[in-house]
Amino acid sequence: GLNIRDVCFGYGDDPTRTVVTDITFGLPAGKVTALIGPSGSGKSTIADMLLGLLEPTAGKILVDGVEIDAANRRRWRGQVAYVPQDVFLLHDTIAANLRLAAPQASDEDLWTALRAAHAGEFVERLDLRLGTEVGDRGVRLSGGERQRIALARALLRKPSLLILDEATSALDWQNQSLIAKSIDGLRGTMTILTIAHRPSMIAFADWVVAVENGRIVEVGQYQRLKAKAGSRLSRMLSGEQS
Ligand code: ATP
Ligand code: MG
Repeated sequence: GLNIRDVCFGYGDDPTRTVVTDITFGLPAGKVTALIGPSGSGKSTIADMLLGLLEPTAGKILVDGVEIDAANRRRWRGQVAYVPQDVFLLHDTIAANLRLAAPQASDEDLWTALRAAHAGEFVERLDLRLGTEVGDRGVRLSGGERQRIALARALLRKPSLLILDEATSALDWQNQSLIAKSIDGLRGTMTILTIAHRPSMIAFADWVVAVENGRIVEVGQYQRLKAKAGSRLSRMLSGEQS
């Protein structure tokens, strides 16, 4: 599993100005953990540190007990995959976009990843082929469809840690539930962190970590926190603003 221990991060030069402060939590191997919290609370910053893109200004991140440091950060980056909040696709073919993650992948591999991301269906439904151009020169994909292509691309890397930063722009319920179904189906095959703004995207989580103002305010089992009156999770699930 993954352990974040006493981690702080600040974007500027002033070490006292942190946007993430003294956070400690674990990501159990093979489980789905949901990271929840209001906008600006530090979720994406935490994700960037887990991805090895930002270095904590204090504290440690440990992978199976080994600290991520300057010597192994590059290798760690090869083991993690990320589906960002705003998906960027090349104005090129679907296949070219997928092969960014796995240049040697066969068409069969690409289809396997698309199906795992529940994206094979829309690629087929739209009568697209892997050679279909997307973007300005070709087919315009919805935000949800782009995210499903990005998820397929992430899966081709066969990551040990998958992080999904849920789009803040509204995805339609069908795309949301298809992405949720994919994540549910991946349980046990990799460690998953899903940054969630919407109840539908966390219903399948095993664990929940809630942050506010860069600090952890709640950690626990999904079912337990769901049943606990007044918890951040139950408030979020009932649609209350935090
Ligand atoms: P959202 O739900 O809106 O995506 P978030 O929880 O992901 O929010 P972060 O993006 O991690 O929040 O931002 C945490 C804080 O850090 C915010 O106050 C934000 O303004 C600040 N911040 C984020 N990125 C930068 C940056 N590159 N430079 C300076 N400050 C930043
Ligand atoms: Mg964010």
